[in-house]
Amino acid sequence: MTTNNDYRSPLILVTGGGGYVGSHTVLALQQAGFQVLILDSLERGHRDLVEAVLKTELIVGDIGDRPLLDWIFQTYPVTAVMHFAAYIEVGESVRYPDRFYQNNVHGALTLLQAMVAAKIPYFVFSSTAAVYGLPPEVPIQETCPCAPMNPYGRSKWMVEQMVGDLGSAYGLKSVIFRYFNAAGADPHSRLGEDHHPETHLIPLVLQAAMGRRPHVVIYGTDYPTADGTCIRDYIHVVDLAQAHVLGLKYLLSGGDSEVFNLGNGQGFSVRQIIETAQRVTRCSIPVLEGDRREGDPAVLIANSDRARRVLGWQPQYPDIEQIIQHAWLWHQHRHGSARAEE
Ligand code: UDP
Repeated sequence: MTTNNDYRSPLILVTGGGGYVGSHTVLALQQAGFQVLILDSLERGHRDLVEAVLKTELIVGDIGDRPLLDWIFQTYPVTAVMHFAAYIEVGESVRYPDRFYQNNVHGALTLLQAMVAAKIPYFVFSSTAAVYGLPPEVPIQETCPCAPMNPYGRSKWMVEQMVGDLGSAYGLKSVIFRYFNAAGADPHSRLGEDHHPETHLIPLVLQAAMGRRPHVVIYGTDYPTADGTCIRDYIHVVDLAQAHVLGLKYLLSGGDSEVFNLGNGQGFSVRQIIETAQRVTRCSIPVLEGDRREGDPAVLIANSDRARRVLGWQPQYPDIEQIIQHAWLWHQHRHGSARAEE
């Protein structure tokens, strides 16, 4: 790691820059002319992608390590922090809630305290539609009451509230993004989704298409939806990344703290995702129908008008086939060729 760079453009500290949404955002920041410093524990992030693709400074460490954060803020001229580093798996959060409160909540508080002490005024936070719990109506607006249903959602909601309170007390300016279902990959397959273990629908469906798992299980076929399966709003990860760049520019140009939903405003059922993936991959995807997964709302669809209006955000890849196509290209690139049908 070198510290003798010439920081002519703003330097952004990206925590979790080796992860899925974080890495795509680092690339988007670089393309927009920002310089990036990544802080990632590499517990779940990918060193190879940071080194081979992002080629930026990586500090391997924990967001809960206050001396390390103080050293970073004393050593580097950080203008703003984008915070992605967090545990994200709902099932894990139910089994080990303390891990989520330690990493997601305590870690974020430590980061925020270090930022306040170092007088770093801008914070962009990666939150989730899980803060809404079972929404009373869809599409969901940011004004919808938050009532998260699991420790993951609660950990993100707690951080949102901390960010608001620290903003009132110390003048920290923040943009909070509530993602709906992040999906897809860099269209050139430089980056993509690679969780261990994988729990998300689209990568699991693609793994089944590749023959890397025997089947995909549909979690519940008795929901009050047209085909009985859950409906979600899938948003391309590159569009999420672009929103972060716009959110940062908004803060740097004097914007007030704000919360934004990020989704396409269009819902697809689990069965529709599987059918689309069969079309895109031209592979058969064996399916089993299983029980509902605890805590899954039937329908989650975003109203993202605020992000469009305030930030000028316009998703570039709203088409679900293209989202799955980009994910498919990435999976083949990362894990070898598909088992072609016929
Ligand atoms: N899902 C499914 N089988 C799986 C994984 C997910 O049927 O193996 C469903 C899940 O119940 C939800 C949707 O697919 O309705 C999206 O789930 P995912 O875990 O990808 O994202 P989430 O909506 O939980 O953030």
